[in-house]
Amino acid sequence: MTLSCFELGERMLSVDEARAALDALFATPLGTERVPLAGLLGRVLAEPLVSPLNVPQQTNAAMDGIALAWPERPPTRWPVVGEVLAGQRWAQPLAPGTALRITTGAPLPEGADTVIMSEQIEEGGDGAVVISRAERVRRGQNVRQAGEDIAFGQSVLDAGTRLLPQHLGLLASLGLSEVSVYRRPRVAIFSTGDEVTAPGQPLPEASIYDANRFTLRGMLTRLGADVHDLGILADQRERVVAALAEAVSDHDMIITSGGVSVGQADWIKAALNELGELGFWRIAIRPGRPLACGRLGWRQVPFFGLPGNPVAVMVTFLEFVQPVLRGLQGEPGWQPTRLTARAEMTLNSRLERVDFLRGVYRCDADGQLWVRSTGAQGSGILSSMNAANCLIEIEASRAAVARGETVTVQPFDSLI
Ligand code: AMP
Ligand code: MG
Repeated sequence: MTLSCFELGERMLSVDEARAALDALFATPLGTERVPLAGLLGRVLAEPLVSPLNVPQQTNAAMDGIALAWPERPPTRWPVVGEVLAGQRWAQPLAPGTALRITTGAPLPEGADTVIMSEQIEEGGDGAVVISRAERVRRGQNVRQAGEDIAFGQSVLDAGTRLLPQHLGLLASLGLSEVSVYRRPRVAIFSTGDEVTAPGQPLPEASIYDANRFTLRGMLTRLGADVHDLGILADQRERVVAALAEAVSDHDMIITSGGVSVGQADWIKAALNELGELGFWRIAIRPGRPLACGRLGWRQVPFFGLPGNPVAVMVTFLEFVQPVLRGLQGEPGWQPTRLTARAEMTLNSRLERVDFLRGVYRCDADGQLWVRSTGAQGSGILSSMNAANCLIEIEASRAAVARGETVTVQPFDSLI
C-alpha cells in the first residue's frame, strides 16, 4: 500500500484508522532463524509444533508402592517378585496374583494396571505383602497413562506463540533442543532536542534530562528487540539526516522522540522526507499527538517519530509501535489485554478523542474491579506512569465517566 493514510491531510485519524493503516503499512514479518532452547524466552515461534512423542513416553507409576494387575477377587497376600526404580524397566510380564515394588515414574511392566501406594501395604511374611483397606482400591489407580499429557502427533504450539517459561518446559519435555523463531528486530532509538541532556551530564539551565531513550529501551527490550541507542540529536536538519541515513542501513525500525510538535516539525519533516516517505498523523488521542510515521530508505524501514513528552512517548509506543513490532516478529493482529472496571471517581475525558489516563485498578472482596486515576494527567508527568498499574482507555464517544460507571482498563503486563 502507499502511504495513502498520510494523504488524509489535516483530518484527525481515529485510533482505529491509525491502527488499520499501520497494519497495512508494516505487514511483512522479519525472517526466521533456528535458536537453541536456552535462548528462546520471549521469542516468537515461526513454525507450528507437533509432538514427536508421547508424554509420558510409557505408562508409569504415579506413586511409590507396588504395581499389580487388580483382579475381580483380590487375594489376601501378594508375592513380590522384585523391584523397579524410576529410570529402569522391568522387562518380564507380571504374572496375575503377583506384585512388583515400583517407584514414581518407573514404567509399569506388561500385565500390570494398578499401583497401590506404600502407605497401604503391610509386610505379609515370606516376601509377600498384604494390602490394607483393599475395598478402596480402584483398578487403574495411581497410574499415568502413556501420552496422557501430550499424545504423539498432537499439535502443541501454533506459529506466532510468544514463548513463556512454560512453553520452554513443554519444548524441553518433547526433546526439542531448537526451533524456528522470527528474527529479533534491530531497533535504533534517538532522542531529539537541544534541551535534552544525557543523565550523568551536568544539567544546563533550561535543559531537561533525557527520559525517553530509557523508557523506550526498557519497553523494546521486553518486547524482544535488539536495541541500539544512538544518542541525542540536536535540532539540526543536517545532523538528523546524517544520523538517520546511517541508522537506516542496518536496522529494522527507527524510533525518535521529540521534534514533531506542530510548528516545530518542519526540520524533522524535511529531513525525513529526504530519506523516505513520511506522514504526520494527528490522531484523536490524548496524550500523544502528533505522531510521525513512515518508511525510510530503499528497504522501507518502519520509522516512528514519537512526541517528546515522556508520557506521550510511552502511550504511543504501547498503542501504536508495539503492535507493529509484534507484527514484525510474527505476531499479527496483537491486541492489548483489556478488562472492565468500575470507576471509583469521576474521570475526565473529551468527546471525539480516546483518552488514555494513567490509573490504578484493584479487585475488591467480591471480585469487582475498580479503577481510579493517578491524579494529574499532563503528558510530561512521568511520575503518573510510575504510580499507575494500568492505562484507562476512555472511548471517543464518551465525554466523561461518572463514578460507578464501567470503563476499559489495559493492565500493565510483563512489558512494563
Ligand atoms: P518536542 O516535541 O520536541 O517539542 O518536545 C515536547 C516536550 O517533551 C518538551 O518539553 C521537551 O523538552 C520534552 N522532551 C523531548 N524529548 C525528551 C526526552 N528525551 N526526555 C524528556 N523530555 C523530553
Ligand atoms: Mg524538541
